[in-house]
Amino acid sequence: MKKVFALVTCFVSTIFLGAAYGQDEKTVVDKPDEWKIIHASTLIARPGETPLRQKSIIVKNDRIERIEDGYLSTLNQEGVSSVKVIDLTNAFVLPGLIDSHVHIASGDEPRNQEIGRDAYLMLNIAANADKTLNAGYTTVRTFIGPGWAVYAYRDGVEKGIFPGPRIIVAGSTIRVGTNGEGGACYDVSSCKKAVRRQIEMGADWIKLYATCSGSKPCAREHAPSVFLEEEIKAVVDAANSRQIPVAAHAHGTAGINDALRGGVRSIEHGSYNDKTSRSLFKSKDAFYVPTLSVQDRIKIDYETASDEMKPVMEAFMETHAARVAAAYKAGVKIAAGSDAAVTKHGDNARELYWYVKIGMSEAEALRSATIVNAELLQKEEELGAIEAGKFADIIAVDSDPLEDIEALADVGFVMAAGEVVKNEMGSD
Ligand SMILES: [Zn+2]
Repeated sequence: MKKVFALVTCFVSTIFLGAAYGQDEKTVVDKPDEWKIIHASTLIARPGETPLRQKSIIVKNDRIERIEDGYLSTLNQEGVSSVKVIDLTNAFVLPGLIDSHVHIASGDEPRNQEIGRDAYLMLNIAANADKTLNAGYTTVRTFIGPGWAVYAYRDGVEKGIFPGPRIIVAGSTIRVGTNGEGGACYDVSSCKKAVRRQIEMGADWIKLYATCSGSKPCAREHAPSVFLEEEIKAVVDAANSRQIPVAAHAHGTAGINDALRGGVRSIEHGSYNDKTSRSLFKSKDAFYVPTLSVQDRIKIDYETASDEMKPVMEAFMETHAARVAAAYKAGVKIAAGSDAAVTKHGDNARELYWYVKIGMSEAEALRSATIVNAELLQKEEELGAIEAGKFADIIAVDSDPLEDIEALADVGFVMAAGEVVKNEMGSD
C-alpha cells in the first residue's frame, strides 16, 4: 500500500513539475531581449586607463554586450527588434561606483523599535538605497546589526523587485560578548558558532570587531586587541571554510596588525596603521578601506563631544588622513568605503574627494571606487569597469571627474544592471 502511495505521489509531482517547467520555458521564450545603445562622448571604461572618445556601449538586458566606435543609431543583427538609444554625447561616462563600507539600514530615519524592528529597518534600507543609487553607487557592501531586513532587501534587488544598489551583506558583527546576541562570542568555539550562524542566515562577508568602536574612549592608538589571536584565527578559518572573506573593523595598531596576521581580507578604518601594518597589508594581499570622510562628521561632532571623547577625536583628526596617505604611498591597496550612516547616505563620493586631498590622483581615487573595490569583493569579472560581459552598471556626469573629483557629487545618469534609474542628462 505504502509503495502504491509513493508511486502515486511521485507521479503527481512529476505532472506538476512538468507543468511548472513548461510555464518557465514559455516565460523565457516570450520575453524579448532588451537592447540599449548608450552614446558616450567621453568613456572612462576602465578607470586608470586612458579615456575613450565617441563610443557606443551596447547593452543587452542586464549586461554590456560590446563597445563600438562612433555613435550607432541601430543594431543590424538577428534577434534585435527594437533598440533604445540613450544620448550621453555631452557627458563623461564611467562605471557605476562601489562603496565597500556602508550601513544601509542605519542613518537618517531611526525607528528601530523592538517589535517590528525588521519592518522598520526595511523602510530605512529603501530610503537609503534610493539615495545611494541616485548618487551613482550601484554596488555597496553593508554592515548590519541583527535581523533579516537587509538580507531580504538584497535578495529583492537581485530579483529586480526593489531598486538597487546591488547589496553585499556582512552579517551581524562578530564582537566580544557573552550575551549570545547577534555576533557576540567569547571563545574559539562560540566565535566559530557565531560566524556559522551569520553564514546560515545568508551573509556574503563576515565582519569582525577587532578593536572597540571609534565613538568610544578606548579607540586609541595603543589600545590592545579585543580578541585573542586564536579567536581571530577561528573566525577567519570558519568563514574561509565556506569561502566567505572577513573584514575587520580596527582603529588601534595592535588590532589592525593582529587582524592582518590572522588573515582578514580588509581592514576598515585602520586609523592607527603603522609601518608593520603597511608591510602586512602587502604580504597578506589585504585591502585597506579607510572611511576617511568620517573626518567631516568628527569635525561637526567635536563641538558637542564629552571631555572624555575630545582627545580621542583630536587624535583622529591629527593622524588618520596622514596614515591613509602613508599607506597609499607604501603601495597598500586602498578600497573606497565611506561609512555612510556615520556620514550621509548619498554623499558617498565625498570619500573620493578626501583621497584626492591626501595626494591620490583623481584617476586613482576613481579606481579605488571601481576596479579596486571589485577586486576586494572578488567580483572583478562582473563589476568595476565598462567592458563586454560585465553588469551594465553605468553612470554619467557633466564635467570631467579626472580633472575635478567633485564632479561625482552630481551624478546625472544612473543605469543599474541595464535599467535606467535616473537620467537628467540627455534625451532617452
Ligand atoms: Zn562603519
